[in-house]
Amino acid sequence: MDTIDERRAIIQPIAKGWYSQQVAALDVLRLDLLHPIISGNKWFKLRLNIRHAIDGGFKTIVTFGGGFSNHLIATAYAAKMFGIKSIGIVRGRYDVLTPTLVDCKNAGMELIFVSKEEYEQKEDTVWIRKLASHFDELFIIPEGGANEWGRVGAGLIDRFIGHDYTHIALSVGTGTTLTGLRNKLDNKHQMLGFVPMKQGAYLKEHIAEHLHTDKNTNWQLFDNWHFGGFGTWNDDLLQFMNAFYRTTNIPLDIVYTSKMMYGIKQLLANDFFPPDARILCIHTGGLRGNVSVKDRLIY
Ligand SMILES: *Cc1c(COP(=O)(O)O)cnc(C)c1O
Repeated sequence: MDTIDERRAIIQPIAKGWYSQQVAALDVLRLDLLHPIISGNKWFKLRLNIRHAIDGGFKTIVTFGGGFSNHLIATAYAAKMFGIKSIGIVRGRYDVLTPTLVDCKNAGMELIFVSKEEYEQKEDTVWIRKLASHFDELFIIPEGGANEWGRVGAGLIDRFIGHDYTHIALSVGTGTTLTGLRNKLDNKHQMLGFVPMKQGAYLKEHIAEHLHTDKNTNWQLFDNWHFGGFGTWNDDLLQFMNAFYRTTNIPLDIVYTSKMMYGIKQLLANDFFPPDARILCIHTGGLRGNVSVKDRLIY
């Protein structure tokens, strides 16, 4: 698959058997179907960045991430698809490349490794230009695609969201997707962000900073379903993913969307939602990250 066709995204209802509580609808927006690598929200955060890189005559995109970053691999593939060079500045040094980094390289991304301390300068454009001084015409995309083009691009996910939904659930990493969508969607939709790391509450302020003044309303974060921290999981979560797949045929990823759906199920069990709620859960992709647990999953 070497194109991204947004018509591949479908809305899939979840069979009542998965939950017993009364709500009017529980659906999943399958953005994971857009592309196996440039998946879900990553495409939306990248698409305007890439458009502006091309329109501005930039020849090279530079971005940032750790060894397991979905954003890094999505950028490598998207840059290749659009015929632009890409550089990935990687946090930490690796004796053995992770599968993600191998794929980045294979997609033509040049990797520059920096220590965790150096990486802290990731917002310093002077430092970035020095690091990549053998390239000119650099278009810089911050870690996680977390810039204004990323937010506005993520807002375009609104085209898949019907007016009738009362609750929109999604996973939160940098908060870029939630911010962009909140800024674009009508305030009447309640947005629920699920944070897959410990102490994710700090994100609240960060998100609020980038929300338009009339949009800082009707959204909340849940950080109690982190399963020990970012990238951490347990048997319970794996069993949950397998059971969810058996019932719905929807594969979840181990880092983000599984923790969100687990949280949704608990909220349903606790009667968090009113009986007339129409809930849309956004599947933001990330399935490539399941390579580390593929032996434990039935898909
Ligand atoms: C990156 C990612 C997120 C987080 O998106 P942000 O815009 O950084 O909040 C959520 N889900 C999946 C599957 C991701 O890969």
